[in-house]
Amino acid sequence: MDQCVFCKIADRELPSKIVFENDRVLAFEDLNPQAPTHILIVPKKHIPTLNDATPEDETLLGEVILCAATIAKDRRISTSGYRLVANTMGGAGQSVFHIHFHLLGGRSLAWPPG
Ligand code: 5GP
Ligand code: ZN
Repeated sequence: MDQCVFCKIADRELPSKIVFENDRVLAFEDLNPQAPTHILIVPKKHIPTLNDATPEDETLLGEVILCAATIAKDRRISTSGYRLVANTMGGAGQSVFHIHFHLLGGRSLAWPPG
């Protein structure tokens, strides 16, 4: 996807602070962090929203989520607590239309979210 910010990050056309990468998944620091830990975990495959995911993406999305859990352990926030968020569509605050999970932690997180 030519115009997609996260595809450009994956292709190194845009800089980012990469935390983890393999052939299928990329994790990098959010540009505008909302918590001491704020990492975005994305499939390298361009899927605009969770609404567009299909059964063939099941394993890939599972890997993305397990990657987030591993990063949470590495960052030592797995016991204190963290939140994994996938804003989906504009009403939920999605601004980049390439599936991504926000990993947020390192501070107390209110519930319900705004
Ligand atoms: P959304 O609003 O779609 O749920 O989340 C998009 C996130 O991407 C935001 O938290 C925003 O700060 C982050 N973001 C947008 N553009 C860039 C960028 O170029 N680099 C990085 N590292 N994060 C970005
Ligand atoms: Zn993309």
